[in-house]
Amino acid sequence: MLYGNAMHVDELLKKSANGEVLSRNELVNLLKLPQDSAEAYRVMAAANRISRELADNRAEIHAQLALNLAPCPGNCAFCSFARVNGVFDTETRLEPAQAVAYARQFETDGANAVFIMTTATYPFGRFIEMSREIRRNLKPETILIANVGDQPPENAHRMRAAGFSGVYHAVRLREGIDTGLSPDKRKESIRNFQDAGLEVGTCVEPVGPEHSPEELADMILYTASINPAYSGAARRISIPGTRIAQNGMISELRMAQIVAVTRLGMPRTVPGNCTHEPCALGAVAGASLFWAEAGANPRDVEKKTEEGRGETVSDCKKIFSESGWDVWEGPSRYYNRKLKT
Ligand code: SF4
Repeated sequence: MLYGNAMHVDELLKKSANGEVLSRNELVNLLKLPQDSAEAYRVMAAANRISRELADNRAEIHAQLALNLAPCPGNCAFCSFARVNGVFDTETRLEPAQAVAYARQFETDGANAVFIMTTATYPFGRFIEMSREIRRNLKPETILIANVGDQPPENAHRMRAAGFSGVYHAVRLREGIDTGLSPDKRKESIRNFQDAGLEVGTCVEPVGPEHSPEELADMILYTASINPAYSGAARRISIPGTRIAQNGMISELRMAQIVAVTRLGMPRTVPGNCTHEPCALGAVAGASLFWAEAGANPRDVEKKTEEGRGETVSDCKKIFSESGWDVWEGPSRYYNRKLKT
């Protein structure tokens, strides 16, 4: 297909409107469209329509707190916690009361799910203890999600028993090349979580200008293959002074295009489509999930991201509202596909 071949884009959008999932080659062609072409905007409009239908026009906002901040041996080039990046040199951990206060605030603010994040080496036993304490202090219907390192089957079961409904876990772009982690182990953990009854949300991330349409299409297809609660796309945020920051960042418009193409690469059984960081362009291109953040954040050099890049639940609501979306009230439907809208 030639770039800007409107006829061909029409055919693909028709195919998608009929509920079909696009092939690798078709996704590659849509990812090759110039970000400001009329065809790219039509792809965004089509994805937006699908996302709104699937979510009954009610987007979700999930909110994440981090239990610790520490130099991490995972050494993901894009992460402010990576030891090699030298942003943070000592570990700080939240006390149980601080973690509970963050989680309760998210609940009060109307987050549809509360996420608990740790760096890769946070002791697992302590993570479970802290999680149980948070769980005890939240309403029983509040959905709790974990964002932690790779885990064996027994730990996945312990997480389920501690009250988690699901996890966020991704095989990141160029995993094992730009990170010190193994892509196979990431995939194995995703299977372990699902086998333990935890729903997995994922994303094509963190996208930089160096990632080719083919790489992005392969990752979109991988995320579709695990039948996630949601997929989506997120761009890499440059941490100043790091090696990978020299590659630059993609625009929000390009990210919105990838968010839209990701939706067209998912079957309708995947209800959600996420983007990060929250932005109106993403929402109008079919993102139906944003994250609010508090405490440490791997895209921020501030110790408390609420004083830096992190958005609040109310900020996210405002962006969705400006983009013509309502926001779902109540426990996340993406992490509980049995719940109807
Ligand atoms: S992304 Fe996770 S594993 Fe990688 S350096 Fe950051 S905290 Fe560690």
